[in-house]
Amino acid sequence: MKRVNIFKIVSIILVIIAIGLVIALMLGAFDGTQEITYDEFLQKLQQGEISAVYFSGNFKMSILFKGSEIPADKFPDRVDAYCQISSRTLASDDILRLCKVDEAGAPENANLPKMIFDDPSSGSIWTSLLPMILALVVGGIFFFIILRQNAGANNKAMSFGNTKAQMTKNIKVRFNDVAGAEEEKAELQEIVEFLKHPQKYTDVGAKIPRGVLLVGPPGTGKTLFAKAVAGEANVPFFSISGSDFVEMFVGVGASRVRDLFLQAKRNMPCIVFIDEIDAVGRHRGAGLGGGNDEREQTLNQLLVQMDGFETGDGIIVMAATNRADILDPALLRPGRFDRQIYVNVPDVKGREAILKVHSRNKPLAGDIDFKTIARITTGFTGADLANLLNEAAILAARANRKVIIMEDILEGINKVIMGPQKKSRVVTATDKRITAYHESGHAIVAKVLENCDDVQEVSIIPRGMAAGYTLTRPKNEDSHYTKAELNDTIAMMLGGRAAEEIVIKDVTTGASNDIQRASSLARRMVTEWGMSDLGCLYLGGDQEVFVGKSWGTHSNNSEEMNSKIDNHVKTIIDDNYKRAIEILTTYHGVMDEMVKLLFEKETIYKEEVDKLFEGVPAEKILSDAKGVTEKKEDDEIPPEGKR
Ligand code: ADP
Ligand code: MG
Ligand code: ZN
Repeated sequence: MKRVNIFKIVSIILVIIAIGLVIALMLGAFDGTQEITYDEFLQKLQQGEISAVYFSGNFKMSILFKGSEIPADKFPDRVDAYCQISSRTLASDDILRLCKVDEAGAPENANLPKMIFDDPSSGSIWTSLLPMILALVVGGIFFFIILRQNAGANNKAMSFGNTKAQMTKNIKVRFNDVAGAEEEKAELQEIVEFLKHPQKYTDVGAKIPRGVLLVGPPGTGKTLFAKAVAGEANVPFFSISGSDFVEMFVGVGASRVRDLFLQAKRNMPCIVFIDEIDAVGRHRGAGLGGGNDEREQTLNQLLVQMDGFETGDGIIVMAATNRADILDPALLRPGRFDRQIYVNVPDVKGREAILKVHSRNKPLAGDIDFKTIARITTGFTGADLANLLNEAAILAARANRKVIIMEDILEGINKVIMGPQKKSRVVTATDKRITAYHESGHAIVAKVLENCDDVQEVSIIPRGMAAGYTLTRPKNEDSHYTKAELNDTIAMMLGGRAAEEIVIKDVTTGASNDIQRASSLARRMVTEWGMSDLGCLYLGGDQEVFVGKSWGTHSNNSEEMNSKIDNHVKTIIDDNYKRAIEILTTYHGVMDEMVKLLFEKETIYKEEVDKLFEGVPAEKILSDAKGVTEKKEDDEIPPEGKR
């Protein structure tokens, strides 16, 4: 921050100097009159070419030549030339000497020009100072503008010299704006109560947490929650992001922490919110090769400050992270962030509530049913749902509709899941064929295996990074998976690759993501969930080790155990791959029909997949669909038959 200030001041000074120079130059250059040297002047004087001189200020002399076009009475408003002089006394003496004026004051020759003297102390100095004054004024305006811009950047929030923290008073967010998450709300309600009536709690000796750590995946509303607490309690909210502490210069982070708490203490009761605290609160001493002094100093300062106020004071420090496990244990000790609140990805009910909150001021068509949307958006966070409704609104606006319809929302879901649809991407026929078989492979395995999710949509339209996709929806909302379900899921993930092998007799790179996901699931079955012959043993135990700028993992297991794990993972993958191959060989006919249908329609839905499995050939499905649409079009023909 200090660095920035110096830089700014220097640049402002440079601007002022530059403007001053330009103005001075302009005043000289646009004068239009010619400048002559003093020697030239004296020469002209002796030759009797000077009609009049005018001393303006001490150092400048304006000149009217004999026979000039300028009438004598217009001088010195208009002049023929001017000349720089060292002083008006010297110059006038020179003139008198050269023109040989006698004691009585009468000129001995007729060359003596008329001499006019203005008052040097008034206008003359003013004119010679004019460029400088102008420069100062312009510079001052610039300075003012820059200051104003700075103030504008932190609109509504005050910024402090040394902290990057923002203080916001009168936060408008309330618990009402945070939907779902009722348990989290109940826990935080306690904090609100304390901030509102600290006396009530301290009187009975109740211990109020000093720090509250919100832990949860990105987009689950941690920042929103912190604001809501400040809003509900109606106290000032100081917020800073962990990454703001991490600066190039050692000591800056620590001084920012100090200033932050200084400001907070002046505004008690209040909430200090440290977003992304993992940037500064990472486990000390885990790094290799040093270079973490700055982070450690900052963290130490934070600990010192948190210990430095009494719980009764009315400062509550809230922090958010998505990795509580990598935080320095010192931060989690009693008296610091001793209260941890897990902010979870919302469940069906939560999703429905969030959808309601975010659709408050969006016009929705009558057919929109939040229950259905909530059911098919498993895994969406609050931020995802907010984004989904926004995408839907954009789609409606693009179609010039006044209300959002269900189709917009469904399209919005796909957009949020896979990024924007890319209809323009060119797909070669070979690619299309491979993709069609790959996706059919997923879909058929999913359909055949009873523990797999329902197939909703199979498509060969590329989206985001994927060449095609198979969308499934869970049959129920269970939060536990059985071993059988996991095995079926792995088989389905490998279905794409299996189809490629059966039909194309070769494999492509298209399945890399499937393979990665299947492997990681299989590995977790072995190491975390005790679902292999190795028994109910937790074998994860990978420790993250800070190596310079990146994280490596270090396993707790013996070499022997690791190789056993690898073998078991491989067995799970191999077995399920075999199952996928078997299913697809059995249903080869259905797969061929599905590929035909995909080629025609590019995207097929649950009903069509069901029909294929009932043995209806692709042609029939297509002609049936055509019949329906043709009939519809027939209905639309006006009675007169004009089209
Ligand atoms: P985090 O800090 O956990 O990454 P944010 O608090 O920044 O998440 O949430 C991002 C946005 O997502 C919020 O501004 C809000 O619009 C929306 N959101 C997240 N969770 C909820 C929720 N429970 N209720 C309503 N909106 C939510
Ligand atoms: Mg956040
Ligand atoms: Zn795939």
